[in-house]
Amino acid sequence: MRLLLPPRVTEKSFQKALDAFTSVVGKQWVLATDQDRETFMDLYAAGDADAHVPSAAVGPQSVEEVQAIVRIANEYKVPLWPISRGKNLGYGAAAPCLTGTVVLDLGRMNRILEVNERFGYCLIEPGVGFFDLFDYLRANNIKLWMSVPANAWGSVVGNALERGYGYTPYGENTRNICGLEVVLPNGDLVRTGTGAMANSTSWQLFKYGYGPSWDQLFVQSNFGIVTKMGMWLMPEPEATLGLNIQLPHPDDVGWAVDELAPLRMRGVIEQSPSIGNSLRFVATRTQRSEWYTGEGALPDHVLMEILQKNGLGWWTINLRLYGYEEVNEVHARIIQQAFRRHTQQEIQVVKWHRGDPIEDSGAGVPSTQALQIINWRGGRGGHIGFSPVLPATSEHVLKQFHSTKRRYEEIGVDYYGSFTLFERYTTNVNMMVYDRDDREMTSKVRALFKVLIADAAKEGYSEYRTHLSYMDDVARTFDFNNHALRRLNEAVKDTLDPNGILAPGKQGIWPRALRTDRA
Ligand code: ADP
Repeated sequence: MRLLLPPRVTEKSFQKALDAFTSVVGKQWVLATDQDRETFMDLYAAGDADAHVPSAAVGPQSVEEVQAIVRIANEYKVPLWPISRGKNLGYGAAAPCLTGTVVLDLGRMNRILEVNERFGYCLIEPGVGFFDLFDYLRANNIKLWMSVPANAWGSVVGNALERGYGYTPYGENTRNICGLEVVLPNGDLVRTGTGAMANSTSWQLFKYGYGPSWDQLFVQSNFGIVTKMGMWLMPEPEATLGLNIQLPHPDDVGWAVDELAPLRMRGVIEQSPSIGNSLRFVATRTQRSEWYTGEGALPDHVLMEILQKNGLGWWTINLRLYGYEEVNEVHARIIQQAFRRHTQQEIQVVKWHRGDPIEDSGAGVPSTQALQIINWRGGRGGHIGFSPVLPATSEHVLKQFHSTKRRYEEIGVDYYGSFTLFERYTTNVNMMVYDRDDREMTSKVRALFKVLIADAAKEGYSEYRTHLSYMDDVARTFDFNNHALRRLNEAVKDTLDPNGILAPGKQGIWPRALRTDRA
């Protein structure tokens, strides 16, 4: 990809900035060839990769180097886009929101600084991947479990900062954050919570600190670069008990949510069960052309045939109980009784005890198998996720499910959705899988995405996370009191980052000099 400069920056001053970066990190870690730029683009882009082109990438190895880079960026007004491992696939991968931004790749800062088994936490740098931490815990026989997202190629820090989630009782990764170290847009270095006390004994224990609590202000934001993160890990339980449930009919998702949500809220179920349409299993194991080569979305009768052949229901729920064996047994009975009120379908029970192979336990075991879905359509595959949050009731879930499925069918894309139940809400991730080289399909997907945002906003559903190309669109739906939240975000942004160098446009937050979008 050829060089595209950021706004406000001439070629001469861009070159000076690169030279200055080189003096900090060395030539090897300033990546500015056409091929380098290609590497940091959105690998799954639905035909819009050209909208988010980096000008270069720079890879520091220490906090001091990050600080020096930030100071240079301020001097030359060169924007920086921090990434941890840059595997935010489906939401933009390593690419920046604003074309011309320099990607600040923190992947080399990958030390596991501390793991405390007694208190169940770790302190890590941004480049630590899920596989790295998992291997470390195993190698050192540390009885702590991680929460791992479906595709675990990325970093623990990046995922928590994007509010990604896993499926253990510690599934809300952002909730496990306890204490951050952050380089501010002016190059200053802060520690949040009690880490603000130089000799603190509780940085990774007490989340709130003294006065305003800042951790969440650095989550999904462009207010700082996280260089260390404290994160709570789950003590290994004595036993787990899995219940695998197939729901035969599309509308079964309604009663299933009404039965499970109160149990989730009361703590009978402590993890976040995901109710996903069974196509997601089929799509990671086979290709669409094996089943159907006709026009339009997969017809219902073909889908039914696929499900029958694979012994799957329309929806699959994998639910898991963690803790003491006796307690799990009692909770399992309560859940089974709830399902018996609606179906006689067999519920598969899977039991694990401490000492059995970890793969069968329901612990967060990293895997990249979920990435296989991009082969579903053939060609160079990609996917994008539309992910609104809804109240966990059948009324909302059924309305959203039917309206989204109809929208998919209108453009000929196969419905692929899940509802993951948290204590009071459900996150509805809808994947659109496409062949990136099919221009007609990708342009339809882009149009569909905007329609889904508008449909959801009409119903009062916001997104929990979104792709780079839709950050402004989603931000615009947060419209109370003439976008008061945006004004607040911008006021903070302008104070912390007067030169507007950090991740311009992230989550729809633009620095003063680059604000053009006003609806
Ligand atoms: P992962 O590789 O874990 O999937 P990424 O590194 O792609 O995650 O990060 C996802 C997004 O989170 C980035 O695009 C960026 O906006 C934000 N982010 C990641 N790491 C940091 C960090 N260390 N500091 C600030 N923001 C970050």
